[in-house]
Amino acid sequence: METRYIFITGGVASSLGKGIIAASLANLLKARGYRVTNQKLDPYINVDPGTLNPYEHGECYVTEDGAETDLDLGHYERFTNIPTSQKNNVTAGRVYMDVITKERRGDYLGSTVQVIPHITDEIQNRIQALGDTGDYDFVLTEIGGTVGDIESFPFIEAVRQLRWKKGNNSLVIHLTLVPFLHATGELKTKPTQHSVKTLLEQGVQPDIIVCRTEHDISESMRKKIALFCNVDPTSVLQSIDADTIYDIPLLMYKEGLDKEVLRKMNLPYDKEPDLTYWKEFLHKLKFPKYNVTIGLVGKYVELNDAYKSIIESFTHGGVANECKIKLELIHSEYITEGNVEEKLGHLDAILVAPGFGGRGIDGKITAITYAREHNVPFLGICLGMQCAVVEFARNVLHWTDAHSVEMNPQTTYPVIDMMEEQKKISGMGGTMRLGAYPCHLKKGTKVYNIYKKSEIKERHRHRYEFNNKYLADFEKAGMIASGVNNEQNLVEIVEIPSHRWFIGVQFHPEYKSTVAQYHPIFSDFVKAAIEYKAEKNSQR
Ligand code: GLN
Repeated sequence: METRYIFITGGVASSLGKGIIAASLANLLKARGYRVTNQKLDPYINVDPGTLNPYEHGECYVTEDGAETDLDLGHYERFTNIPTSQKNNVTAGRVYMDVITKERRGDYLGSTVQVIPHITDEIQNRIQALGDTGDYDFVLTEIGGTVGDIESFPFIEAVRQLRWKKGNNSLVIHLTLVPFLHATGELKTKPTQHSVKTLLEQGVQPDIIVCRTEHDISESMRKKIALFCNVDPTSVLQSIDADTIYDIPLLMYKEGLDKEVLRKMNLPYDKEPDLTYWKEFLHKLKFPKYNVTIGLVGKYVELNDAYKSIIESFTHGGVANECKIKLELIHSEYITEGNVEEKLGHLDAILVAPGFGGRGIDGKITAITYAREHNVPFLGICLGMQCAVVEFARNVLHWTDAHSVEMNPQTTYPVIDMMEEQKKISGMGGTMRLGAYPCHLKKGTKVYNIYKKSEIKERHRHRYEFNNKYLADFEKAGMIASGVNNEQNLVEIVEIPSHRWFIGVQFHPEYKSTVAQYHPIFSDFVKAAIEYKAEKNSQR
């Protein structure tokens, strides 16, 4: 079938959950047998979010093909189990960079290069590039930001033009907020009316309005919004606050979002979507049999978004074990030898997070010493794995100033060193070892038993690596390389066989955990936490 384009815009306020609505709709369409892909357009000028501080924009999500992208792409993959790519996240910076590169090359043959048509054409090309692959029935494009923002104007204009060209094969969903005024006990539709007016001023008539709300929106209120905003009353839907983001696909199904989309696009909607596995997932999520407390030690703990994929991977790993996970975000900067017992002593497992730079490094190392010496299940991801290597070098091999050269270029024992190919690079954007690389797992190791196969592929985002010069010393002392990349001769996984569960991974398993496919590392880590907790309790 010809590709249909669905645009998701937002109004009134940011953070209403456009990404989750887009991912939920994709999920429902997929459950009806359609081929779908989600795309995010970000109006900021950074070429990609890779250079953004997690405090600014949350986690940077990495795709299979090595794109550093917005965290919404993580939601898309977790909800649809369909891999995204470089094409699925486009920023204004990338659009402008491409247009300027073409201008410098002389591609515009002397014409004046302008926002309309050059920038807007480039945006449309980027949207249609996904449809042009022939792989998708639906391309769902979410426009970042809020309508009315100065920087989102060219994106909304591109939507207007594409809408005009595609006619019935395209559709706009506008997500707004219907606030509840506690003082008068009323829901208010005026902000939605204003937001739709702003969209109309830019030439875009929404087809469906989704209202984020704390309370049910009545029939009469839906009619009122429909009347003021020129849409069918059946096209005003609510997105009510839910316990978890995983409720949203089912709630939107109940509201009939997928049906309304298909109806508007003259596509059949008589058959129901198959939501069995999603319902089972949700049931296990809501009725767990076990519970554990896991510590996530990192330095961006004030902001959940910085560790979004890890947190969601724990949700999946918890469901895999019918276990509720209380995740404690622990600030590594404040962990010291004096307080480590008090801060970590009650945990059933400890994860040390990825990161960059030296802030909070000592606390991470202290947390790892604690996990290693007390036989507490431990998972280190990327920088967390590198810290585990440093900790082992210092406290087991007694190389007291061992470090990663990222933190101490002068160390006598650079156990984590810069990768050869990184040494020639000076720019920061998109220059790390990025995306999926193969990894070979050694038979008989814990990771081999977890994955149950020897060849895996996992996603990376780093500049530094285990220094092979010291591998023999580590293995002799009890930390082995259980996963390696043979082509580049890189250590990708370390583990301590004498420990109950101590694994450090140079890659990011969290980018590949989805509702349809929980990541085995997280599932097994949670299982280890459940077992450890049971053992502690039986000794009491
Ligand atoms: N800073 C480390 C490196 O660049 C780890 C990166 C990470 O944790 N993603 O290798």
